[in-house]
Amino acid sequence: MNCKEEERLIPFYLKDELNEKKTKEFLEHVKECKSCYEEMEIQYLASTGLEWLESGSSFDLECEMKKILFNSEKKLKHKRMIRIAGTVINILAIASIIITLVVQISLWLTGEVPGPAMLGL
Ligand SMILES: [Zn+2]
Repeated sequence: MNCKEEERLIPFYLKDELNEKKTKEFLEHVKECKSCYEEMEIQYLASTGLEWLESGSSFDLECEMKKILFNSEKKLKHKRMIRIAGTVINILAIASIIITLVVQISLWLTGEVPGPAMLGL
C-alpha cells in the first residue's frame, strides 16, 4: 500500500476500527515510513493528546505512541493465537471423527458388532 492509502487509515487505526488484516498492513507500513508515523502522531495529538493536556496531566507523545503500537501488536498476536487454537481444535475434531469411523467400520467388518448388513439395512 502507498502512503496516501495508509494516511487515510490513520483515524480508523487510532479509533481501533481497522480489521486484523488492515491493522497488520498499517503497522508494517508506519514502522518503515517516517512520514506516515509522524502523520499518525499529529492526528493522535490533535485528538487524544489535547484532551490529555487540558486535563492537566503530563503527556509523553513518544511514549504514548509506543504504547499504542505495542498494544496493537499484542492484540494481533492474541488473535493469531486464537485462530491457531481454533484450527487445532478443528483438526482434532475431524481426526476423532475419522478414528471413530475407522474403528466402527473395522468392528463391522470383523463381525464383532452388528453392522448395517447384519441388521438387514
Ligand atoms: Zn507512508
